[in-house]
Amino acid sequence: MEGKNMSGKWICCPCCGWHLIRRRPDTAARNLPLYCKRCHNVSLFDIAPEPESQSHHLT
Ligand SMILES: [Zn+2]
Repeated sequence: MEGKNMSGKWICCPCCGWHLIRRRPDTAARNLPLYCKRCHNVSLFDIAPEPESQSHHLT
């Protein structure tokens, strides 16, 4: 299990697994190019915002 309620998830390079950026649960991006300084590969990422977790109450 991954810590879903941490401050953010790491987006990792698909080639070498290097941690590229840390995203927030409400981060959204489309075709975001991220450069990996470890393997010098540029990858495109689609980042969808996560739905509100049940731990966050809006009443
Ligand atoms: Zn890499």
